[in-house]
Amino acid sequence: MLSADLDPAHFHAESSARLDQARAALARLLALPADASFQAVVDAYDAIGRPLERVRGAASLASQTHPSEALRNVAQTIVQELASFATDLSLHRGVYERLAGLDLAQAPGEEERRLVANALRDLRRGGVDRDEPTRERIKQLSDELVRIGQEFDLNIASDTRSVVVPGGAAGLAGLPQDFIDAHPPGPDGAVRVSTDPTDYVPVMTYAHNAELRRKLQFEYHNRATPRNLEVLRELMRVRHELARLLGYASWAEYVTEDKMIRSPAKVREFVERVRRACEPRMRAEVAELLALKREVEGAGDSIADWERAYWLERVKAGKLDFDSQSVRPYFPYRAVRDGVLATSAALFGIEFRANREVPRWHASVECYDLLDGGRVVARVFLDMHPRANKFKHAAMFDLTTGCGEDLPQACLVCNFPEPTADDPALLLHRDVETFFHEFGHLLHHLFAGRQRYLAFAGIATEWDFVETPSQLYEEWAWDTGVLQRFARHHQSGEPIPGELVARMRAADEYGKGLHVAVQMFFAELSLEVFGRDPAGLDPTELVIELKRRRLPFPHEEGTHFHASFGHLNGYSATYYTYMWSLVIAKDIFERFRGGLMNTAEARRYRQSILSAGGRRDAADLVRDYLGREYDTRAFELWLNA
Ligand SMILES: [Zn+2]
Repeated sequence: MLSADLDPAHFHAESSARLDQARAALARLLALPADASFQAVVDAYDAIGRPLERVRGAASLASQTHPSEALRNVAQTIVQELASFATDLSLHRGVYERLAGLDLAQAPGEEERRLVANALRDLRRGGVDRDEPTRERIKQLSDELVRIGQEFDLNIASDTRSVVVPGGAAGLAGLPQDFIDAHPPGPDGAVRVSTDPTDYVPVMTYAHNAELRRKLQFEYHNRATPRNLEVLRELMRVRHELARLLGYASWAEYVTEDKMIRSPAKVREFVERVRRACEPRMRAEVAELLALKREVEGAGDSIADWERAYWLERVKAGKLDFDSQSVRPYFPYRAVRDGVLATSAALFGIEFRANREVPRWHASVECYDLLDGGRVVARVFLDMHPRANKFKHAAMFDLTTGCGEDLPQACLVCNFPEPTADDPALLLHRDVETFFHEFGHLLHHLFAGRQRYLAFAGIATEWDFVETPSQLYEEWAWDTGVLQRFARHHQSGEPIPGELVARMRAADEYGKGLHVAVQMFFAELSLEVFGRDPAGLDPTELVIELKRRRLPFPHEEGTHFHASFGHLNGYSATYYTYMWSLVIAKDIFERFRGGLMNTAEARRYRQSILSAGGRRDAADLVRDYLGREYDTRAFELWLNA
C-alpha cells in the first residue's frame, strides 16, 4: 500500500477508517451476551486488532523511510494514534471483565486458554484493575512515553555531525580508495567525514590518522547532546512513575516480567556470568592490541575507545593476515542479495520471485513474492540503500502477519552501497552477515504469519528470544560451502577461496572477548538506568562509573554516548536480550554442525520454532526442538574457542 505518491491525507483517512473498524470490533466483544461461549469471546477479542494490520506496519515503515516529509509526519501521527488506541484497550475495564469472567479450565483448547491467560496478564500489566484516577494517570504517562521515545529517536536520527579531516585528503590514509574517492575536498578545500555509520565505521576501523578518529568519535558520542540528556531523564522519570503505579519496584522489574528471563535479578546473574566468562579473553586481547600499538608507535600505555576498532583491524591484518577489504570483490551487492534469497530458498524449500507490479515508495525498493509449494504465500520488500531522511541502520520492519486480508509481508531496511552502471557496490563481509541476520528476522516473521489467532502471529514470542533466529542465521554467512554458492569474484568469477574464508573466520573470532565485554557493559547500563528511582541518578555519572569498572578503556572527557544510545528507548532495561538470544542460538546451531544446508533439519527448525510464532513459550519450543533444556555449554565453548 506504500507508494511513492501516497497522499498523506488519504493515508490518514485510511488509518482513521481502520481505527473505526477496530472500535466497532471492540463494541461487538462488549455486546456479546453474558452466556457467550469461550470460543465466541476469544474470536471477538482477537478480531479487534485485525483491521489495524494494514496501517500499523505501513505507518511505522513510512515514518522511517518514506521520501516525502509530509507523509513521514503523517505516518508518525498514525503511529501515535495506534499506540494510543492500544493503550486505551490495555486499560479497558469492560474487556478485562469480559475475559476475566471466563473459566480458563473451560477453554476449548490450549491456544484459546493461552490467548486469554496472556491477555489477562497484559491487561493487568497495563493497570486495568486499578481505580479510575490511577488508570487515567497511566494513560497519560503511556501517551507521554510514546512522544518522549519518538523525540529521543528523532534527536539521534536528525543529528548528523561532520569533522574536517586534519591534513586534507592525505588525512584519509588507510581508508579504502572508493571511500577516499567518495570524499573529495569541498568548495573550501576541506575534506569532511560525517558521523553517519557509512563514514563512521570505516574511519574508526581503517584511518591511520589517530587525531581524525578521536575527533570523529568525540562528535559521534555527542550526537543528540545536549537535547537527549534531558529527554533521557524524562524517559527515566516517566517509566519509573509508570512502573510504580503498576505495582512494580522499578521499570526493569516491569519489563523483565514477561520475558524468558523474568526478573532484573536474573538479568544481573546472567550478565555477571557472561562477563566473567569473557574477561580473561578480553584482557589478553587488550594486551595484544597495546603491544602492537607500542611496536608501531614506539609508545603507549592504554588503548582508547577510538583506537579499539583500528588496532583490532591491524592485528587482524598482521598476525592473522586478514584484511577485511580483501573479501569485498567477492561480495558485489546483487550477488549477495541473490545469494541470501537462493540460500534461504534451498534451505527451506521455498522460492522467491521478483514482483515488479506492487507499488513501492522509492525507485530503489525491490519486491519479491515468496512461494511455497508453487503458491505465493508471503511478500518481501528490500529497501537496501542509503538516502536522505531514511532510517540509518539495518532492521526488519514487519508489515502484515497474513491474519487479515493481506499476505504476510515484511521489509528489510538497510544502508548498503547501491550498485550503479560502473560500480558493482562491493560489500564488506560484515554487511553480508547483517543481511543474513535481518533475513533471519524476516523469515521468522513470514513463517510465523497466518496463525489461527492474530495474537500469536508473526514474531509474537518473548522479546528475549527474538534475536535467536536472526543470530542463528548469521552462521550461514560464515560457512565456506554456503558462501561459495554465491560469492564469486566480480571480475574473475572465481568462487571465494576456502582458505580466505578460514582466515576471515579466524579474524572474526579475534576480538570476541572485547566485543562481549562491551555488550555486557551496554546490558548493565541499560538495566541500571531503568533499575531504580531516577531521582538523583545522573546517567552521565553512571556511564563513567560503569566504564571504569567494566571496560579496559577510559571514558573520554566531554562525551555523552548515552544521548544517542537508541536502545535506551527501544530496549529500555533489556539490552541483555541480544546475548541471551545468542546463547540459545549457539545451542540450536549444534544441530547444524553436520551441514548447514541440511534441509531436513531446517524443516524441523522451521516447523518447531519459526512457524509456531507465539503459540507457546519460547523455552517450550526450544525444548521440543532440542529434545532437552537449552543451556550455555555451546556458548561458553564458542567464547573460549
Ligand atoms: Zn536483530
